[in-house]
Amino acid sequence: MKKIFLTSCCFIMLIVVNATGAKPDKIALIPKPLSVQMEKSALKLNKVIRINDISLSGNDYAKFLNTGCIQGIDYKSVNSKDDKSEIIIRKSSGTAVKESYTLTVNSKGIEIAAPDNGGILYAIETLKQVLVQSWNGNEFDIPCMVIKDEPAFAFRGFMLDAARHYQPVATVKHVLDYMLSMKLNIFHWHLSDDQGWRVQSLKHPELNTIGSFVIDTDRVQTNGFYTLEEIKDIISYASERNIKIIPEFDIPGHSLAVLNAFPHLRCPYKPGSNAFCAGNPKTYEILKDIFGELIDVFKPEYIHIGGDERQKDLWNKCDLCLAKMKEVGVTNENDLQSKMLIEISAFIHSKGVKTISWAENIEGGVAEGQIIQSWRLRDEAFKAIKKGHLVINSDNGETYLDYPENAEDAKYKPSWMLILSVEKVYNFNPVPAGLTKEEEKMVIGSECPLWTESITIDKIYPQIKDRLEAHAEKCWTRKELKSYPDFASRLKVLQDFFKSSFYGEVTHMF
Ligand SMILES: [Zn+2]
Repeated sequence: MKKIFLTSCCFIMLIVVNATGAKPDKIALIPKPLSVQMEKSALKLNKVIRINDISLSGNDYAKFLNTGCIQGIDYKSVNSKDDKSEIIIRKSSGTAVKESYTLTVNSKGIEIAAPDNGGILYAIETLKQVLVQSWNGNEFDIPCMVIKDEPAFAFRGFMLDAARHYQPVATVKHVLDYMLSMKLNIFHWHLSDDQGWRVQSLKHPELNTIGSFVIDTDRVQTNGFYTLEEIKDIISYASERNIKIIPEFDIPGHSLAVLNAFPHLRCPYKPGSNAFCAGNPKTYEILKDIFGELIDVFKPEYIHIGGDERQKDLWNKCDLCLAKMKEVGVTNENDLQSKMLIEISAFIHSKGVKTISWAENIEGGVAEGQIIQSWRLRDEAFKAIKKGHLVINSDNGETYLDYPENAEDAKYKPSWMLILSVEKVYNFNPVPAGLTKEEEKMVIGSECPLWTESITIDKIYPQIKDRLEAHAEKCWTRKELKSYPDFASRLKVLQDFFKSSFYGEVTHMF
């Protein structure tokens, strides 16, 4: 199997080189950088490339050059000011934009200047795309150039649903490698839903013995949880790749799996419900306990608390919930949910962690400082901004990658799903019209979710390929520099490079 993959990658490499020529005057790059200045001269390099990190950032950058479709080259790290090297990494000045970089290729070598680990990694990812197009069969024949680059949005996200189908650690790492290759920096991990709870709990082992095995079948992909060791490993893998993990525990609905472990936390009259009872004091106790444990495990900057699609007409028939409404001074279920999430958020904030929730909570009010993720209605992002919230725009018709890409794909998907083409993903502007310049800055970015009701691990790459690249350019590249026909032609050149970045490791390229 490995041999077949290896052979196909060599073939891919030849296609790339033949398509672009040994000395391309134009290099295809995704996402499109801020500026590329090409020179007439070239730099020739052989199969040994030394990389010297005199910025002393502490990451081993040679290993990132060793993943993807350009292996067979001997990349070495050298770390002394006196060492000779083909690539040198310097720290740029303190005023440089976060995650920005300058990549310079001249006749003497390659220089990367960046203010942080993110900028260095992104320069290396850009360099990899340059290298795969510069191999002439014997050596690298790289056009001299200066690339200056920085992101348009700080939040460039992808969400993987680990609850509907469970993905092994290796698959999660493939996703993280793929994200790095296109400069995405947020991995939103949907770790709980009706179909499963996916985090090992030492305090509440029933979350795993019951909550992680909701579907009674031998299909490995629908059951299971990540051990604390596995989570630690994934956090560190992501962090090396400049990717922040946002764990999500979706409450008060979508909670069947957790409520199977704590059945007494449902409204007493509704034994099969998938929502917590908002009137039971024990609910708040357990939720704080679980969120506290998640914070201990992930040490995250943000936690996603969900807040979407709670079953309606449930709490207003429950004596405990009705009494709670009276106690907190609200008259309907939606406002009760807002009060509940504000209390849980206050607990999370007291631990120094920020919160994100899905957008339907804005009507009844959300905790101060909570970031809103819009998804459902066209005007949600706009409304949230007008109410003073920072926004992540995940408008479902523009970003949901479980939706079919074309009419053929749609035959196998539920009929309510909209068709979401690569072009549509690309052209979506996360910033709604009608905002002031200051308000526009409140859109911190966009995220493409992949809900996995029908997505097994073998379908992840086919489902997200091309559209995630389009999303990445939408998040990274300034709006005025974007052009879909131009993106589509660059994607043709780089499609196989990105595929290799997802599947990883080819051991002998040449
Ligand atoms: Zn209740």
